[in-house]
Amino acid sequence: MTVQLNPRERILMGPGPSTVPHRILRAIGAPTLGHLDPQYIGYMDETCEMLRKVFQTSNALTFPVSGTGMAGMEAVVVNLLEPGDEVIVCINGVFGGRMKDNMERAGATVHAIEVPWGETFTEESLAEAVTMYPNAKMVGIVHAETSTGAHQDLTSLGKIVHDAGMLLAVDAVTSLGGHELKVDDWGIDAIYSGTQKCLSCPPGLAPVSFSPRAIEKMESRKSKVQSWYLDVSMLKNYYTGGGGRAYHHTAPINMVYALREALAIVLEEGLENRVNRHREMHLLLREGLEKLGLQYIPENSLCTLNCVSVPDGIDEGAIRRRLLDEYDIEIGGGLGVFAGKAWRIGLMGHGATRRNVGTLIAALEDCLA
Ligand SMILES: *Cc1c(COP(=O)(O)O)cnc(C)c1O
Repeated sequence: MTVQLNPRERILMGPGPSTVPHRILRAIGAPTLGHLDPQYIGYMDETCEMLRKVFQTSNALTFPVSGTGMAGMEAVVVNLLEPGDEVIVCINGVFGGRMKDNMERAGATVHAIEVPWGETFTEESLAEAVTMYPNAKMVGIVHAETSTGAHQDLTSLGKIVHDAGMLLAVDAVTSLGGHELKVDDWGIDAIYSGTQKCLSCPPGLAPVSFSPRAIEKMESRKSKVQSWYLDVSMLKNYYTGGGGRAYHHTAPINMVYALREALAIVLEEGLENRVNRHREMHLLLREGLEKLGLQYIPENSLCTLNCVSVPDGIDEGAIRRRLLDEYDIEIGGGLGVFAGKAWRIGLMGHGATRRNVGTLIAALEDCLA
């Protein structure tokens, strides 16, 4: 085969991956080092340090899990839960449902609390849940539910969960780098994200962070973590330097270069500026979509993922196909309950720009005409 790989330069405005800046693609192309090379260890330590800044945490145990966002979810669940543990999970879309599935596979007894898709959980409903299931060890919740576009307020949940003696685990795959997210201030004990959403890095790593409370829970386990690959008790020797950087698995070197570059971009822009930019672009997009007669589904919408109803009588798949074929723009269709009924438009990281918003609105207007 001599056929050259030649992917088109699409505008990725779906639920992820988002468009990757050339600066990050160049970083991926840097020379591969050995995973125990001191120069590489230096880059990795810097990456973890930058992750702490972006997560706004002082948690020592903060590192990128090898794998996409789902690997981060699985790492948090399998390390913090043992067979027989009780746990509460909040479900208002696909990803809460996946968290439940992961928890059940880890052998936990799972108490699911649910609100309709597109809605979010109130402080009162959380307080009620921890009273109803006082033996639960942890509460799992999604900050940015990408399947519905709903934005979960987390600012006061940590106290409720901690007062009940439980840990708070959060899915921040579509919020890290796009929405305000304060791991320490909000009392989050375990959090996972992904590189391919608001960090605008290719898919392949899942940043995670564990609080001292979470580490205590892991260290008091009676059983081994059933996943060998995701066992944090072994991974932490390599990532935090304990145990002399012991080999566990070969780190995805060039992906770590990419993440390091992506985090540098985030920090150069500044967290607050970045959150403000996502909000401004969301409001601009919202104005344009509503002018086209499209309605947002969630009451409390994310800025990073905009979920709107497909008008009656419109073949949503055909419109997405035209956007891709004629305009090189990717948006997402509905997932789960919203399959065939919604469009999901991502404004993530590098893609949250005035240019992209204007281009999409003009293209959609043409396709809907
Ligand atoms: C995308 C996403 C995931 C999964 O990430 P992958 O990179 O697809 O593995 C998990 N949770 C949420 C909220 C997501 O948006």
